[in-house]
Amino acid sequence: MNRLSDIGTIKDILSRHGFTFSKSLGQNFLINPSVCPRMAELSGAGEGVGVIEIGPGIGVLTNELCLLADKVVAVELDKRLLPVLDETLAEYDNVKIINDDVLKLDLNKLIAEEFPGKEVVVCANLPYYITSPVIMKLLEDKLPVTAITVMVQKEAAQRICADIGSRESGAVTVSVNYYAEPKLLFGVSAGSFMPAPKVDSAVIRLEVRKEPPVSADEEKFFKVVKAAFSQRRKVISNSLSAGLKMEKSAVTEILSQAGVSPNARAETLKLEDFAAIAALL
Ligand code: SAM
Repeated sequence: MNRLSDIGTIKDILSRHGFTFSKSLGQNFLINPSVCPRMAELSGAGEGVGVIEIGPGIGVLTNELCLLADKVVAVELDKRLLPVLDETLAEYDNVKIINDDVLKLDLNKLIAEEFPGKEVVVCANLPYYITSPVIMKLLEDKLPVTAITVMVQKEAAQRICADIGSRESGAVTVSVNYYAEPKLLFGVSAGSFMPAPKVDSAVIRLEVRKEPPVSADEEKFFKVVKAAFSQRRKVISNSLSAGLKMEKSAVTEILSQAGVSPNARAETLKLEDFAAIAALL
């Protein structure tokens, strides 16, 4: 068993380093020993594979990834964790910690420099305050990664992995599905973390598509998706008219040409419908 998952060991390390949790950085560290090995295994980390981890914390998941992958590059914003990670990852020579904000990093450059010629995957227990921006950055930057395996809040996982066209789907469902095939892997209870958050979590895997499933002008496509879901309760003709700042008659004409009912709700539309509307803008 990974000694780092043991709560006594974690408490000892944190108290020796005088570490206090930062709520604003989303610091809820995993203390359930079964989660990290499972997550690392399902992430695709293995021989010949490079892994990017976001927010290693004290390195509990990093440890498991180092055991499986060729190389792990972990991006941690909180510099107070650097001496902790020096200690907890001391036995590995295939790990590099970068002290930076993942949202500001040029990840394409990082991959070219750190993982030339390797398959690359992302694996992370994400800080919840930036779940969607991080996931969208990883996808929109069109990184040469094959899969993204991340722990997120249960509700976010359900939304991202909802079937397109179902009541549970939203703008993030459509946006993620444009770039990847999402899959809910397993749930993780709030008690698996220290300190325990108020909500449960889940691990999801995004299998990055080689090509989007529909062809569309991306700027227009995402503009339509954003406008369509901006007022979920409204019918699509009203939400698009408001969100795209267009006359309702013009929107109705476009919808009719795209074969979409003006009275439909955004969550019932398929990727093809959003692409058809975008093509007519
Ligand atoms: N991986 C550890 C675990 O599973 O126990 C910690 C996960 S904790 C939910 C999120 C981690 O992300 C924290 O270590 C936090 O300091 C770090 N973090 C927060 N914002 C960040 C950012 N913008 N860029 C990089 N790391 C960040």
